[in-house]
Amino acid sequence: MNCLMCENQKNIEDDPYFIMELETGYVILGWFQRFWGYTLFSCKQHGPELHDLEHNYKVKFLEEMATVAEAVFNVFKPDKMNYELLGNGCQHLHWHLYPRRKGDTPIKSSVYQLSNAELFDESTRPDEEQRKELIDLIKNEIIRLRTK
Ligand SMILES: [Zn+2]
Repeated sequence: MNCLMCENQKNIEDDPYFIMELETGYVILGWFQRFWGYTLFSCKQHGPELHDLEHNYKVKFLEEMATVAEAVFNVFKPDKMNYELLGNGCQHLHWHLYPRRKGDTPIKSSVYQLSNAELFDESTRPDEEQRKELIDLIKNEIIRLRTK
C-alpha cells in the first residue's frame, strides 16, 4: 500500500505541523492558512469510506472530529465551520476543517472554488512563530474541551 498519510503517521511527531494525537486520529495544522485556522484531522485507520469503520470507532472518530472543529471555532471565531471529507486524491479518511468568514471567497460555497494557486499560495504558509502559536492555541482548546 502506498499512502502518504499512512507514511506520515509513522513519524507523526516529527511533522512540524502535527498538533496532537486523539484516540482515533491525528490533528494537523494546514500547511497553508488562506483560511486562518485551517486544520486537518486524519484517521488512524486507512481507508476511503466512513461506513467501513467499525461502528463504535466510527462514532468516536466523528465525535473527535467535532471536538477539533469546535476548538478551531472557539479559537478563530469564524462565521461558520466547513467540514470536508473528500478523499478523491488521497483515499485515507481525513477531514479538512475550514473556519469561514463572510466574503472570504467570491461565491458562497466550498473553498475549492479557489484555484490551487490561491489555496496553496506560499504567502499563506505560516512562519515558524505563527505555526507554533496556531498549534498551541488549537491544542490547548482541544485539551480544555476534553477536560470540561
Ligand atoms: Zn493511509
